[in-house]
Amino acid sequence: MSDTTEGYALPVDLVPTPTREYNLVSAHEGAIRQTFRPAITFSATDISDLTTEAPQALPLPLPLPKPLPLPFDFSSRMLVFKQDPTVTEIGVRKVLVRGLTTTGPRNSRIQLQGVAPVAPNSMNDFIQSPGTEGFDAVHTFAVVQQTLVMAQRAAGATIKWQWNSTTNTDPINVSPRAGITMNAFYSRNEKALKFFQFAKPGAPAPAPMIFTCRSLDIVAHETGHAILDSLKPGWIGASSNPQTGALHEAFGDLTAIFLALSQLDQAEALIVLTKGNLHNKNFLSSMAEEFGPALGRDNGLRNADNDKKMSEVSSEVHDLSQVFTGGIYDVLADMFAHDRNLSKEDEALTLVQTGRYLYSLLLRGIQGAPAANATFANVVNQMLTITAADGKPVEYRNFLRNHFTVRQVVVSPTPLTQDFKGKAELMAVNHPHLTVQASGLQDRSRCCGTMRLREYQTDESMFEEELKMLRKGIGGTSK
Ligand SMILES: [Zn+2]
Repeated sequence: MSDTTEGYALPVDLVPTPTREYNLVSAHEGAIRQTFRPAITFSATDISDLTTEAPQALPLPLPLPKPLPLPFDFSSRMLVFKQDPTVTEIGVRKVLVRGLTTTGPRNSRIQLQGVAPVAPNSMNDFIQSPGTEGFDAVHTFAVVQQTLVMAQRAAGATIKWQWNSTTNTDPINVSPRAGITMNAFYSRNEKALKFFQFAKPGAPAPAPMIFTCRSLDIVAHETGHAILDSLKPGWIGASSNPQTGALHEAFGDLTAIFLALSQLDQAEALIVLTKGNLHNKNFLSSMAEEFGPALGRDNGLRNADNDKKMSEVSSEVHDLSQVFTGGIYDVLADMFAHDRNLSKEDEALTLVQTGRYLYSLLLRGIQGAPAANATFANVVNQMLTITAADGKPVEYRNFLRNHFTVRQVVVSPTPLTQDFKGKAELMAVNHPHLTVQASGLQDRSRCCGTMRLREYQTDESMFEEELKMLRKGIGGTSK
């Protein structure tokens, strides 16, 4: 991977469309050919043969069947990194982004900032060379858009940004080159997703630059924060119990995993790599280490395939989030093993479908959880109820109950060998991280830039003492 902005030549199979110049020349040559094409003349015999030998047309049925109208095609092809560019199994791929996309790229929900606008070619496609600023702009736009589309399909509804209302339809501002620092974050105040770049730590000078926007994981993770902040605006502040913050961080990591799983070619690559055992070490659960520091992690970004229990983690929010992320990953592995039927269906297709269902279940479970101070147990109980209402097999509920019981999130009143029956809520195991911390704020020291952002570290209630004094003050408008 080049770390310069000059880029490198695209492989032939990734240059999908004729250029504007090609179209112009082609049209011109066509016009010239037409000029010289001889006219075809028919003799009287020819015409007679045609009329006598032509098959008789059947009478048209009335009324005429109406063809299905096709919508005007506003779609654009774009190139993105499938995974971050340091993972060698998966490289650059083409994606089709539906809907109207204009120069930027920009659509009604997403606009780019701080980079030169990229214009579409004559086919309305955005094809840039990897390693360039233009490629990064298109890639970042496409991944944010894919993440939003995935969440909207899972929720079965359009998902607003946190600031949107009936009178505010402002898009989110996405900066793929936000500056030089080891960070990436979502900011509600700035209505923005910001991706920074930094020199590779420990590399001999001149150290190559690591661009956080090039990591599908980081872009999906931060977009996950933006989506969750819209669904649950009361969850992002640091003054609630640590599990609420951990749900935010876990949702970011799980969004990245489910986005990868939503793509059939990635699911196929994963099946081949792991021989169908999702607990084999793979790019889905562990990621390139060099991107880790950008999210404040000392190892790779994904640590989903872990065995951490509540008694083994601290109250630090990222540490805590691994229990929830790991539990959902275990449920994914079990659901996939349950759903797989090799005699009926290709397992990569099964994996895509299982992932899609579990992501939808997670999103709806979050929607049903309390607006403030939510706990892991709240979300797990919602998921248990929803999957029963969906008419899914009891095994799905067994997987949820068993993994979150083993991880000491909930207590099961019945043995784990018995089926989960009834609608009883599972009680949460009483942990110190179920209550607001003595300091009043969560410990987010190992979280990503979003969770460490100053705007989420305060709460209006923290100003209450000062506001009391203000109300007793003099001056102002007396009323
Ligand atoms: Zn995060």
